[in-house]
Order: sequence, then C-alpha cells, then structure tokens
Amino acid sequence: MSQVILDAIRKTYPMGTDNVTVLRDVSLTLKAGESVAIMGPSGAGKSTLLNILGTLETPSDGQVTIDHQDPFSLSEKALAHFRNETIGFVFQDHHLLPQCSALENVLLPTLVSVDRSFAETRARSLLEKVGLSDRLQHKPAELSGGERQRVAIARALINRPTLLLADEPTGNLDRTTADRVVDVMFDLHKAEGVTLVCVTHADSLAQRFDRCLLLIDGSLQSK
Ligand code: ADP
Ligand code: MG
Repeated sequence: MSQVILDAIRKTYPMGTDNVTVLRDVSLTLKAGESVAIMGPSGAGKSTLLNILGTLETPSDGQVTIDHQDPFSLSEKALAHFRNETIGFVFQDHHLLPQCSALENVLLPTLVSVDRSFAETRARSLLEKVGLSDRLQHKPAELSGGERQRVAIARALINRPTLLLADEPTGNLDRTTADRVVDVMFDLHKAEGVTLVCVTHADSLAQRFDRCLLLIDGSLQSK
C-alpha cells in the first residue's frame, strides 16, 4: 500500500510562444490503501495528474512523494525500476499487444524477472481472479472489450504494485460490462491492498470510492 503526497503541483506545457497551465496548485495526500476517484470535465488535466502520480510526467513545480521518496530525484534507470515495482496502470484503451495471448500479455511486465514459473503462477491466479481462466490463450481480438480490460487489470497487478492508477478504464464499455470490470478492480484493490486512484466520468462508479475529487480549473476540490 503506497502513501502518496502531492504538494503544490503545477504543470505547464509550452504552446507556441505561450505556456498553457494545466495544473495550477494541486495538493493531495493519499493514505495507504485508500481508494480515490477523480472527476472533471474533458481537458481539465485528469490524465496529466494521473501521469504525474505515475511518474510518467514530471511536474513543472511542486513536490511528489511516494512512500517517503521523491521519485523524480532518482536516475532514469532507478525511476524505471521504482515505477515497475510500485505502480500499475490501466488505461482507457487496453494497450494489450495484439500478437500475444491474454496470459502472455499479463506476463509482459515480468519478462525481466528471473523466476519464470513463479511469474506464470501469479499470472494464472490473477486471470482466474478476473474471471478469465478459460481465456488464457485468447488474443486481444478474440476477447470482448470488458475481457480485454480485465486482462489489462491483471497485467497492471502482476508485479504486486502498491499503487494502482486507472484512467477512465471503463470509458469505452457499456454500463453492465463497466460494472463487472469495476467489481474486479475493487476485489483486487481489497485483496492486494493497493492504493487506488481512478479517473472516471461516471457518478455511479465514483460513489464506490472512499473519496471523490473534482479537478476544475487546474485545482482539486472535494465533490
Ligand atoms: P483530461 O484527461 O482531463 O481530459 P488532459 O490531462 O489529457 O485532460 O489534458 C489537459 C490539457 O492539457 C488539455 O488542454 C491538453 O490539450 C493539454 N495537454 C495535455 N498534454 C499535453 C502536451 N503534451 N502538450 C501540450 N498540451 C498538452
Ligand atoms: Mg484524460
């Protein structure tokens, strides 16, 4: 379970001769094991915020602390290692490799690890937990949208991250399928004890989290 602190995060992007400010003054403390939903209009900076939490993007100003450590003070190699061990990502589009089976996709983040049989046992167990034990050899094109997102959740958790970040994971799914995917995400959030941050547009989904925050005009507010 990760504890995360964002302190006065600002993010600007250069736009021609100008700068656009996407995040103005974002401060947020996530308790270990907490689940938080982030809502807000399109273009508000939700993905930018999630990418900074996930150490994929650097803030222009402010401090990020994950488990008492400033990840951006690490070397590029150490940061990649930290990210691989600490953070799991689920995106709106599943980002699965089309030529790989469900099982192979879940195993992708473990290719650097030595213990292959341990990794495969974990992958099979996760795919069972997301209800796909009879789909191990299916390629993404042979799976439904909800099944692909469940594979993506299993893949995000394969390295036992302590922080799970999901960016509109059910944005492309119908309501019933979305509910199933979210059930799976919450089951694993509880079973694995991961801190969970999820961007969503759906009120019904946001209500299931410990807290719901709204990103407006580059700042976070409680909803
Ligand atoms: P959301 O996920 O809430 O829809 P984003 O975080 O994707 O919003 O984007 C927020 C704003 O930042 C948008 O106006 C977008 O155009 C801008 N933006 C995002 N990434 C970049 C980038 N790499 N360069 C310039 N502007 C960007
Ligand atoms: Mg987005």
